Amino acid sequence: MRSNPADYSLLAPDKLDAVVSLLAQEPGQWLPIAGGTDVMVQYAAGKLAARKLVSIWNLPELRAIETLPEEIRIGAGCTYTQLREHQIIAREFPLLASAARWTGGIANQNRGTLGGNIVNASPAADSLPALLAYEAELILVSVRAERRVPYLDFHTGYKKMNLAPDELIRAICLRREFSGYLHYSRKVGARNAQAISKVCLAALGRLRDGRSAGEFGGQIGGTIEDVRIAVGSVAPIPLRLTEVEQIVSGKSVGSRELAQQARKSAASAIQPIDDIRSTARYRSAVLGNLVAEFIEKLGIPESPSGKTA
Ligand SMILES: Cc1cc2nc3c(=O)[nH]c(=O)nc-3n(C[C@H](O)[C@H](O)[C@H](O)COP(=O)(O)OP(=O)(O)OC[C@H]3O[C@@H](n4cnc5c(N)ncnc54)[C@H](O)[C@@H]3O)c2cc1C
Repeated sequence: MRSNPADYSLLAPDKLDAVVSLLAQEPGQWLPIAGGTDVMVQYAAGKLAARKLVSIWNLPELRAIETLPEEIRIGAGCTYTQLREHQIIAREFPLLASAARWTGGIANQNRGTLGGNIVNASPAADSLPALLAYEAELILVSVRAERRVPYLDFHTGYKKMNLAPDELIRAICLRREFSGYLHYSRKVGARNAQAISKVCLAALGRLRDGRSAGEFGGQIGGTIEDVRIAVGSVAPIPLRLTEVEQIVSGKSVGSRELAQQARKSAASAIQPIDDIRSTARYRSAVLGNLVAEFIEKLGIPESPSGKTA
């Protein structure tokens, strides 16, 4: 059934304090709306349960990207366009920059926010594997206090999260410690634009002595010192493939056997489903290929980061 606008109220305070006070007065009654690219889809489908909406789109406290020596703090209301265009994100956190480029079309990138992607909590959300790989931390704010939560502990099950009804995500923090790493991401969808992921992967790796693959003078080889592999669309929440990480850590790159072991371990860690976009079997096979490809590329200079159709 179509939604009737007369059934809804919308407030748009211009200060973060006013929004969190409103949430605290009637916890669970007010639904924050940022870019609205998920909320308005529910509204148009007549499926928006909340009747009271509070806009957080114009809050300056949520719209800035702060660069500190140790970390960057991305306001939760930053759009994909802001992420795509930010030079430090492009240089130091390319997995997030790629995810921003791959999310919807330009109009969606101008409105959709990183905070909205996190709280909407789709298993196929494109930015979330990057946040897992970079071990992001979230700053949550309410009238009670601010608290900092590792993103790894935030999503606890399908659409379940560690966020109280009176809390907002204020910022997403990424530590600036990934120089010398290979950043590798892939999104597999039905086409190159406007496609929901069938499988997505965000991975990081560094060879021994902090040298990146390219610093081996074009030689294939080296020992894997640190590796983080995160995947989306293959379980109710995005996953870190910690067993695969353990299997490959300390091993020499370039061996087909190692890539095979990684592929097997990845398949056993995920819980893919059949749905309108894909089958569980396809998702499992493709994820294994992407993990194996990442392990192989770790030892090859000039590894690309790309998207397949
Ligand atoms: C055409 C189209 C294409 C899309 N393509 C993709 C895609 O390729 N990949 C992808 O991952 N997603 C895609 N999306 C989904 C959507 O654009 C993203 O999830 C987007 O990041 C949501 O952000 P928003 O600001 O619009 O969220 P909103 O719709 O405003 O809010 C979504 C949810 O988050 C909550 N929320 C928002 N901000 C905060 C905050 N700071 N603190 C607490 N709660 C908050 C809201 O209350 C609501 O529950 C697409 C959507 C459309 C319509």
